[in-house]
Amino acid sequence: MTTSVVPVNSLARHIAPLKAALSADAARVIDSGHYVLGPGVAEFERTFAAYCGASDCIGVANGTDALELALKSVGVGVGSRVVVVANAAMYGTTAVLACGATPIFVDVDSEGALIEPTLLAEALATGDIKAVIVTHLYGRLAHIDQIVELCRSRGVAIVEDCAQAHGARSSGRAAGSFGDVAAFSFYPTKNLGALGDGGAIVTSSAEIGQRARQLRQYGWTAKYTNTHVGGRNSRLDEIQARMLLTMLPMLDGWNARRRDIANRYSNGIQNSGITVPAPADERYVAHLYVVHSDRRDALRAHLEGLGVQTDIHYPVPDHRQPCHQGAYDHIQLPVTEKLATTALTLPCFPELTDEEVERVIDACNQF
Ligand SMILES: *Cc1c(COP(=O)(O)O)cnc(C)c1O
Repeated sequence: MTTSVVPVNSLARHIAPLKAALSADAARVIDSGHYVLGPGVAEFERTFAAYCGASDCIGVANGTDALELALKSVGVGVGSRVVVVANAAMYGTTAVLACGATPIFVDVDSEGALIEPTLLAEALATGDIKAVIVTHLYGRLAHIDQIVELCRSRGVAIVEDCAQAHGARSSGRAAGSFGDVAAFSFYPTKNLGALGDGGAIVTSSAEIGQRARQLRQYGWTAKYTNTHVGGRNSRLDEIQARMLLTMLPMLDGWNARRRDIANRYSNGIQNSGITVPAPADERYVAHLYVVHSDRRDALRAHLEGLGVQTDIHYPVPDHRQPCHQGAYDHIQLPVTEKLATTALTLPCFPELTDEEVERVIDACNQF
């Protein structure tokens, strides 16, 4: 029996073949003398907007800032009510709170762990909702057509959280092109990841794009003229932009390999104690491959014993986080709360070998 561990992710494997190209990118920026909001950022913004099928992209410092500034650019401010799921590691909720707005938590469906449109409709019926954050969790497109229809007729802004879903598509349209504005993260482990922090706001509204562009740089409308409330410094580094430009042409290939691994798992894992997602098409880019088990902790220990690393995405729902000091204790989200106890993430990244995938399948089937 082989004793090597199957890692849940490996950035070292992912980046190793790119070392020469990324080093050249860094050297080019170092030599250029232009390190913040230079030509590399401008080129990345044009290229990534086109990749998403949107007209504008604004590079920012990270994905959480992208969410916050996207919310502000559609008019969310102090006292606004914003719908958000509670199963996405506090990113959306953190952004809502940073705007001085109130999170309105809505439960998810039990198959995809995505915001449940019928419950969203109930929340919207209470009126006074300014925006909805639609999280394409684990790299799977949410029920976006229904959501767009619900929100458009009520004038509610749609902010897509695409931090796990770069390149997920439906009917030829990509994540980030369905709502009013979208937020992306380029944290190193994302499907498109930099070698540090990075993020982007994507939109096809000239007005939202201009506002986001001003908010990421102190709320300036001209140099040293701070016009907008809520502005701050959140810029994408030139070095990261150049590296992202080098990696973007590989994204669809990486996503295809991730999806291939996910579908091998979904077809190969056959165990009545483990629920796997159905095999998926281009709507899912397999950022995370998550199974469910009522004996999750035992499954996790079993896999660890066979050298298969796992993780939990995510163990504590947003409305139960200690930072709220009990403010949301009265809120119940049965599906969200249940899934937090059953979810287990298996290794899924483009450089995983077929042999490792088989080892994971075998280990699950031996549970
Ligand atoms: C990673 C992530 C973010 C935040 O991105 P950062 O760059 O780490 O701030 C937001 N939403 C989701 C769903 C994420 O996975």
